[in-house]
Amino acid sequence: MSSSRHIDNNAPVYVKGHVDLQGSQFSPGVIQKLKAWIQSKTQHLLKAVNSNDTDYSVYTGKTGLAMLFLRLADTIYKGTSFEEELVKAARSVCDSAQKFLRGKRITFLCGDAGPLALSAVLAHREGNEGNYNCCISELQSMVDRCCNDSGLPDEMLYGRAGFLFSLLFVRKHCGNHAIADSALSQVCQSIIKSGSTNAGVSHAGIPLKYEWHEKEYIGAAHGYLGILFQLLHPDLLKLDVVQSSLNLIKETLDIVIDMRFQSGNFPSSVGNNNDKLVQWCHGAPGAVNTLIRAYQVFSDAKYLDAAAKCCDVIWDRGLLLKGYGICHGTAGNAYAFLEMFKATKNEKYLYHALKFGEWCLEYGKHGCRVPDRPLSLYEGLAGTVYFLVDLTNPENAGFPGYEI
Ligand SMILES: [Zn+2]
Repeated sequence: MSSSRHIDNNAPVYVKGHVDLQGSQFSPGVIQKLKAWIQSKTQHLLKAVNSNDTDYSVYTGKTGLAMLFLRLADTIYKGTSFEEELVKAARSVCDSAQKFLRGKRITFLCGDAGPLALSAVLAHREGNEGNYNCCISELQSMVDRCCNDSGLPDEMLYGRAGFLFSLLFVRKHCGNHAIADSALSQVCQSIIKSGSTNAGVSHAGIPLKYEWHEKEYIGAAHGYLGILFQLLHPDLLKLDVVQSSLNLIKETLDIVIDMRFQSGNFPSSVGNNNDKLVQWCHGAPGAVNTLIRAYQVFSDAKYLDAAAKCCDVIWDRGLLLKGYGICHGTAGNAYAFLEMFKATKNEKYLYHALKFGEWCLEYGKHGCRVPDRPLSLYEGLAGTVYFLVDLTNPENAGFPGYEI
């Protein structure tokens, strides 16, 4: 049933051997349709780089566009004459971003670490050692601040987990030597210590307690699911501090999973009984990554079952009137299907991702709200394009700025 939040999903249910699929891949006609749409929007987004906007965040600003340009250069434009132009546009964003670092926020998505990390990755790619070293040392210098500022939250958008992602991002693209294990250990230690201190103070039953603005959020953006997802990254599982806290992480996750609604959706915060929000930042879509990773780390099928239930909720209620973005829009919800497909190879999820993708191709035609930042990576068009690029290559899909 439609509500004020979502539109009815009238797509036919999946049947094996659907015409759009050839084995575990899309038919050439589908790929062509997606690429044509992506190409039609790319020029428009490139022009936005020259605007006077001084927001250089990944979330709403120009560094988010630069991330998309690099993705496009490495995928559908690779080997074409346009590849170089996209890399150049990303470089121009990263150069300008250095002048607008504010020294306030530390995260990848909303703070200085995003532009610094992307700049380091680009400099590494270009072989510009001076620039690379400069960005890495800036990031290193933020480690102490991240760990010692007791006023910092732990969540993804403004807190320590969001800084931790920046370090993992640089390691993935520049090699493990780029960021020492000791820096990762320090940040993980501070996140775990913060959680256990909060839990101890409140005598709550949860072993690691996390709050943002005095509320225990659950979702990927501000809450437990985002923090625990980062801590369970394969690079971090080798660290003593994470290894010795794995039982605390698991117990915390299990308590959060028990808070689910009967539908399988997750509340936005502890004690909130309203089963309304189905979006990456609050609710089931942001839980799928965490549940799949928990399944891989702890080898317990209950996590995969919970992820499958989340995907059912998203299929029913995930076409959002909030629009086509990734933070609280349909493209972000569809990433959950791609994750489930990667983990299970079940074609049904590929089909579901495609149906949501096709809905996004009808951009602007569903009476959805226009976001405050209409071109941005997390709220606007750039995020939708990023998702559609990933849809053309599901095996390599990954929620930008979150999954590495
Ligand atoms: Zn959101």
